[in-house]
Amino acid sequence: MSSWDTPERRLLRETVRRFSETRLVPRLAQWEDDGVVPREVHRELADAGLLAIGFPEGVGGSGGTAIDALIVAEEIILSGGSSGLVAALFTHGIGLPHIVAAGDAGLVDRVVRPVLAGERIASLAVTEPDGGSDVAGVRTRAVRDGDDYVVTGSKMYITSATRADFITTAVRTGGEGAGGISLLVVDTGLAGVEVSAPLRKMGWLCSDTAGIGFDGVRVPATNLVGPQGSGFPSIMRQFAAERLSIAVQAYATAQRCLDLTTVWVRERETFGRPLSSRQVVRHRVAEMAREVDVARTYTRAVVEDWLAGEDVLARVAMAKNTAVLACDRVVDAAVQLHGGMGCMRESEVERHYRDSRILGIGGGTTEIMTEVIAKLLLPA
Ligand SMILES: Cc1cc2nc3c(=O)[nH]c(=O)nc-3n(C[C@H](O)[C@H](O)[C@H](O)COP(=O)(O)OP(=O)(O)OC[C@H]3O[C@@H](n4cnc5c(N)ncnc54)[C@H](O)[C@@H]3O)c2cc1C
Repeated sequence: MSSWDTPERRLLRETVRRFSETRLVPRLAQWEDDGVVPREVHRELADAGLLAIGFPEGVGGSGGTAIDALIVAEEIILSGGSSGLVAALFTHGIGLPHIVAAGDAGLVDRVVRPVLAGERIASLAVTEPDGGSDVAGVRTRAVRDGDDYVVTGSKMYITSATRADFITTAVRTGGEGAGGISLLVVDTGLAGVEVSAPLRKMGWLCSDTAGIGFDGVRVPATNLVGPQGSGFPSIMRQFAAERLSIAVQAYATAQRCLDLTTVWVRERETFGRPLSSRQVVRHRVAEMAREVDVARTYTRAVVEDWLAGEDVLARVAMAKNTAVLACDRVVDAAVQLHGGMGCMRESEVERHYRDSRILGIGGGTTEIMTEVIAKLLLPA
């Protein structure tokens, strides 16, 4: 039996689907118009037992493994949600793991538990206006002064920044390069933290994104995540989870578009016959199904090997690129086969078409993934 399809996980899928179809999907269009998901939805998700899946019970989580957390994201998308909705509701999936891994009881109590209870929101800030791909080039400075770090600099394109209470922030505490980077949890209520107005985007409209300025912000040194200088390896370790999550969101988005298109081509008639009777249409749909299945099968295999402790650095990058490429092609075909309706805001494939564009950019771009693979194949 596939570990993605055990009786417990089938039950989990049903629970997520029910919650999504009743509490999320009917409100999604409004949240897309508003540009934000209300904070209380995090509490609703927590009360339904879905917000903290994949986090250990010892830090306020619901237990389970990454597969359970990925199933939640997958099922939200398959039931009519979106990758933008997953980004908005589960930003803590990238904001908290470094803190949990470092294991500081004070930070767990002050930050991790309230976020997993749906009472607070956590984000991750690595990208800066000067660049996101070059993580080792972070410029935001944190200088130790007594019991505090004084933080100066800025971050860009930060998911959930307009709502976040805590931002796990990559800062430079040492010299140039990867070794000089640390992670510091910045409370957005501190003097000198300035969050920009929401940035206007192509997709992920329900997910707020903003820039953040730090102007001499005094952050207690107790907010340091792990030892000083451990930020870069910590970010790289957690990137595996983020990249695999994006791969899952990509194949789930593609599967949802395939499902919608299969229904559409049966119903839509042109020249007196359903579209599904035309060979060119049938073959296009068959190709969509092939791409989705390959992306899903490969991504799930890499997730399982990653959880088994294998070295999957290159294959995580391959999974992200494979699933993103499949998604790009499938959402494009879905819009094309929907014709004019595919370009209308009222058709779901239109939203997936826009939302999917970020998947090859966030969490490391397609080019950077290819570079990761090349570096391992052809060391300099
Ligand atoms: C909606 C949205 C949400 C986001 N959320 C977050 C978040 O929550 N937290 C966060 O920290 N960041 C976030 N990001 C930022 C995202 O991670 C970065 O945009 C991404 O890493 C790319 O960085 P960049 O935009 O600076 O592009 P750049 O690094 O400037 O790259 C520009 C282009 O050059 C290519 N390129 C760069 N270097 C090379 C190279 N060596 N060889 C070949 N090609 C190269 C890239 O692939 C890309 O195509 C978000 C972005 C978006 C759009």
